[in-house]
Amino acid sequence: MKKTHRLHLQQPYLSACEAIVTEIHPEKGIATDVTVAFAEGGGQISDAGMLITDDAQAVFTDVQKGYGRLLLIKDFPSIQIETPVYHKVSQEDLGKFKIGQSIKIFIDIERRNRLCVSHTGIHVVLMGLERIKPDIYRSIRGCHISPEKARLDFMLEDKFTDEQIIEAREYTNQLIKENWEAKTFAHPTEPEAMYWQTGDTTYCCGGTHLPSLGDVGEVMTSKKSLGTNMQRVSFSFPNAIFRKELFVS
Ligand SMILES: [Zn+2]
Repeated sequence: MKKTHRLHLQQPYLSACEAIVTEIHPEKGIATDVTVAFAEGGGQISDAGMLITDDAQAVFTDVQKGYGRLLLIKDFPSIQIETPVYHKVSQEDLGKFKIGQSIKIFIDIERRNRLCVSHTGIHVVLMGLERIKPDIYRSIRGCHISPEKARLDFMLEDKFTDEQIIEAREYTNQLIKENWEAKTFAHPTEPEAMYWQTGDTTYCCGGTHLPSLGDVGEVMTSKKSLGTNMQRVSFSFPNAIFRKELFVS
C-alpha cells in the first residue's frame, strides 16, 4: 500500500488537486498519491467531493485512512501516519478508474468550511471548560465533529453544573468575539504530527480549522448525563460565517 501525501496538512484551504490513482479497493474505494480531502480522524468526519477523469466523474461520500506507521513521539497521541487515503465511491463508479490514471480531486468546500467551524469551535469550547477544570483535557473519552454540531464526552467524578457550562460558554464566546488568530504547525521531525495554536494554548491536532476564531460565531451549548461519571457537552454554531474566498483551487 502506497502512502498518500495529505496536502491539507500544509495547505489547509486548498480545494482541488491533481492526483494519480495508486490503488482501487473494492470496499474502501480509490487511493491516490496525493489528496486535498480530509480523512476521518480524531473524531472529525471526513470531507466529501468529486473525483474527475478525462471522460468520467464520481462523487465520493467518505474518506478513510488505511494502515501506515504508528507515530510514537513524546506527548503526542499514537496515530497512524504515512497511510494510504481512500475516497469512497459507489460500486458502479469504481469501474471508471484505473491504476496509474491522472485524476482531479475536488472537495465540497461548504461542508469543509462547516467542519472547520465545528472543529475550531470544539477547541475554543475546551478552552472555556479548562477555565473551570484545568485538567479537563485528560477526562475526554469521546469526541465527535460533524458539519452541523460537535460534542465532547467526559469521564468526571465531579460533573459540570449548569452555571459552570454558562461561565465556560461566556468565555468561549468572548474569545470568538475578539477574533483571535489561530494557526497549525507540524512537529519539527514528524510532518504529519500537527498542532493547533491560539494565544498561548496549543493542542495536538491534525483536523481542519479556521484561520481565526471570529467566523465560528456565537456558540450554543448543552449538557447531558451519560450515566455514572460520564457527561456529554454538545455545541452548535448557528451564527457561523462561510467565507468562500478562504478556499483556493
Ligand atoms: Zn483541531
